[in-house]
Amino acid sequence: MPVFPAGAIPGPEQTDRWIRADRARLIHPNLPDSRTDRTVMVEGRGCHVRDSSGKRYLDAAAVLGMVQVGHGRDEIVAAAAAQMARLECFHLWENMSNDQAIELAVRLTDLAPPGLERAFFTSGGAEGNEIALRMARYFHHRRGRPERTWILSRTSAYHGIGYGSGSVSGLPVYHEGFGPPMPHVHHLTAPDPYHREAYGGEDVTGFCLRELRETIERIGPDRIAAMIGEPVMSVGGAVAPPTDYWPRVAELLRSQGILLIFDEVVTAYGRTGHWFAAEHVAVTPDILVTAKGITSGYIPHGAVLTTEELAATVTGSTGFPIGFTYTGHPTACAVALTNLAIIERENLLDNAMKTGGYLADRLAPLRDLPAVGDIRQAGLMLGIELVADKATRTPLPTGTAPVAQALREDKGIILRGNPRSLLINPPLVMDRGTADELADGLFSVLARVEPDGR
Ligand code: PLP
Repeated sequence: MPVFPAGAIPGPEQTDRWIRADRARLIHPNLPDSRTDRTVMVEGRGCHVRDSSGKRYLDAAAVLGMVQVGHGRDEIVAAAAAQMARLECFHLWENMSNDQAIELAVRLTDLAPPGLERAFFTSGGAEGNEIALRMARYFHHRRGRPERTWILSRTSAYHGIGYGSGSVSGLPVYHEGFGPPMPHVHHLTAPDPYHREAYGGEDVTGFCLRELRETIERIGPDRIAAMIGEPVMSVGGAVAPPTDYWPRVAELLRSQGILLIFDEVVTAYGRTGHWFAAEHVAVTPDILVTAKGITSGYIPHGAVLTTEELAATVTGSTGFPIGFTYTGHPTACAVALTNLAIIERENLLDNAMKTGGYLADRLAPLRDLPAVGDIRQAGLMLGIELVADKATRTPLPTGTAPVAQALREDKGIILRGNPRSLLINPPLVMDRGTADELADGLFSVLARVEPDGR
């Protein structure tokens, strides 16, 4: 059980004041005005957090899939404080540099799959994907192929909400009402082995490859800059493609001079039991985007890794002309270095594999429940797909939100869901006892779910 610091629980009057001020002054992502309740988090230790009423929760989402080393690590707090006391911030524009950014670039490119030798720093995932998309187009421009501007992406993908990253995201909610998206984006069908009915009787990889080949022919291979995708889809439901999907896609893209971008904003830094999920799917992309787990979320940061050839081309004689104010922020880099040291020292990749496997075994009997269609697992990334009808695999009419809410209210378990699947991404420090707590809570709530979603 976690030991929380004394004195952090403020009492009901303060909570009421915060909730009133929250409703009056804050804009939340994805929260209708009609909803008046709030959960005000005040502290965290390990896999658990507490709200302002003192209620304890198991954080099975690692906030938003990022707190790899767990909450409340004093070592990270000390690293941030020490760096802030020495040099809180500096930039990387032109020939300015700083020791922490250099050390982190070395560390990341040493950890990365062979061939990814250069790093560009951002403050988050959407920023990373913006850089990746621009890098891909700029690479072709510098190579004398400026007409290579098209980006291939996939339906149901989430890549963030910047202009480019939002445009390549495949979910309608990020497009409707926001005006024209970035031009020259095409969404392909995402591979989802559980929904084989969506592939018209064809083998899933075969269908996706045929569609990719036809799309390349239609747009013209010499007009396409890159394809972006997550090696294992996270927000999409912890969906791993068939094992031959990425190797065959990568081979086809390479043969046409199209770059491959892996969005590893969620999957990197141990989530799937590897430093990078590129290892999980046995493909090294040309550009690999990371964020979240790079600092375990203790401070915003991200890194885009790429090849020497690509870096040398986009920098060239005049330099890569774009960057952010916070590119290479030394305090963020110092936090990342300490976070990576903890992941390595505590063997958290190994723990993600072992505890993820244990959790999958514990959850396997859930498959017998009427509402559970599929359970997927890669390391400590799990998805439970809920269905109204096992035969047709139709989703619950209510989506997964009421189930997630029941888990939170009745069992003190925090996790998120997309319309079809509950998403489980706990801290990588999770032990078996905590995995049992999660499995028991899921069992008792999912056993009550009716086909109409109640
Ligand atoms: N890519 C993926 C796969 C994500 O899951 C997310 C966020 O959840 C993003 C990109 C966007 O990252 P950020 O919210 O840090 O901009």
